[in-house]
Amino acid sequence: RRKLTMTLRSDTVSVTPTEILTKLKRDCATPLPLLQQVANAMSADMRAGLGPGPGPGPGLPMIPTYVDNLPTGNEKGLFYALDLGGTNFRVLRVQLGGKDERVIATEFDQVSIPQHLMFGASEELFDFIASGLAKFASNEDGRFHVSPGRKREIGFTFSFPVKQTSIDSGILVKWTKGFAVSGTVGRDVVACLNEAMERQGLDMRVSALVNDAVGTLAGAEYWDNDVMVAVILGTGTNACYVEQMSAIPKLTEHVSSSGKMIISTEWGAFSNGLPLTEFDREMDAASINPGEQIFEKTIAGMYLGEIVRRVLIKMAEEDALFGKSVPPNLSTPFILGTPVICAMQQDYSGDLHRVGSLLYDKAGVESKLSERKTVLEVCDTIVKRGGSLAGAGIVGILQKMEEDSKGVILGRRSVVAIDGGLYENYPQYRAYLLDSVKELLGTEKSNDVVIEHTKDGSGIGAALLAASNSIYNQDF
Ligand code: BGC
Ligand code: MG
Repeated sequence: RRKLTMTLRSDTVSVTPTEILTKLKRDCATPLPLLQQVANAMSADMRAGLGPGPGPGPGLPMIPTYVDNLPTGNEKGLFYALDLGGTNFRVLRVQLGGKDERVIATEFDQVSIPQHLMFGASEELFDFIASGLAKFASNEDGRFHVSPGRKREIGFTFSFPVKQTSIDSGILVKWTKGFAVSGTVGRDVVACLNEAMERQGLDMRVSALVNDAVGTLAGAEYWDNDVMVAVILGTGTNACYVEQMSAIPKLTEHVSSSGKMIISTEWGAFSNGLPLTEFDREMDAASINPGEQIFEKTIAGMYLGEIVRRVLIKMAEEDALFGKSVPPNLSTPFILGTPVICAMQQDYSGDLHRVGSLLYDKAGVESKLSERKTVLEVCDTIVKRGGSLAGAGIVGILQKMEEDSKGVILGRRSVVAIDGGLYENYPQYRAYLLDSVKELLGTEKSNDVVIEHTKDGSGIGAALLAASNSIYNQDF
């Protein structure tokens, strides 16, 4: 009997869970030389993306944002911000009081974006935004007031790759983060919003169109002039930074009074030299944007839980992790969100009962202690890779900036402002990111680089940019 069992096992089971885990760890490893290569490749792809010629060339998108002056602190008046990014849609208003008073009052509202709008028609999505704005704008209390004769102005944070043509217009290049709205790609998203506002009978003006990373940089720099880089690590990911005009050969016709401009890297599109696995490739192939946003799919919140789920399925199928049959719910894509794997990783109890109940509640999986330990090892492997690579990306940006303007970055205090739910809520991810930056820069240089969490800076940032680009700034 014993012999028979053994023969059966070796025929049907080729890989043990430890072998799958060992291979996973090997494939996802991020030793220092690999991180250094990724940082170097990031710098090189940034430089290539700034190169001459219109249209998409080699390297990263490196989108000129037409933000060539950061807020000064003198901004005054009532401004609105709209934020359409990943999971939520937010509206905000802020009464700015200039140098001494700064932010006099602020108020915001937030709703989650109904799933069907992410797959619907463009007009429906923009009608939803405009009606949310109309409702919010109709409830202004006495702390907020606009000068007589002026329209209310908006900073529109639109967190997708947009080819900007000016500070207040830009064409959607593609959707990311699971959005598949028809009829928007190739259109000016400010025109889309204006049309929807008209349908609502709402008379407001978009004065600045900004990416969330750009809004975060502007919002953080308002309080701290040493902010040079901003990074979003949420559902999706992006980074932007302050670039010298002389280092942007592809932007020939624009004159910047400061000699600088914020560049939105769209680093989610990066893919050079990443340590990827079969699970990443399968997830990518099944996504609505195969072959695109590979860095984003490796490091951002939308995907980390899904990669873990794919590893667990393979372990369940090939080596009876979780018993003889594969738990059916585990086969549902995206059933294990990143917040779930994060919550599991905060379980420090001896029997890992929180891990057990999360597996059961979210995916109907019954588990033994040894299996829960395996699950945590898988989570840690994927999260370590994500956080470490995000750190390498940040160092890549700092390196690029330092190469073009020696001493501007290293050798003085430089602040990297980070926002997004993944960075904010996932302590292990954050720790791996910070370790990676420190390891790559070395202790001495990393003392100059301050990594700061700026919570919800992008809304105020967008409002500030609307203020500094107000149409009323010209008349005295
Ligand atoms: C988009 C970026 C955005 C980032 C963070 C990415 O998917 O391409 O434009 O900044 O997500 O929201
Ligand atoms: Mg400033």
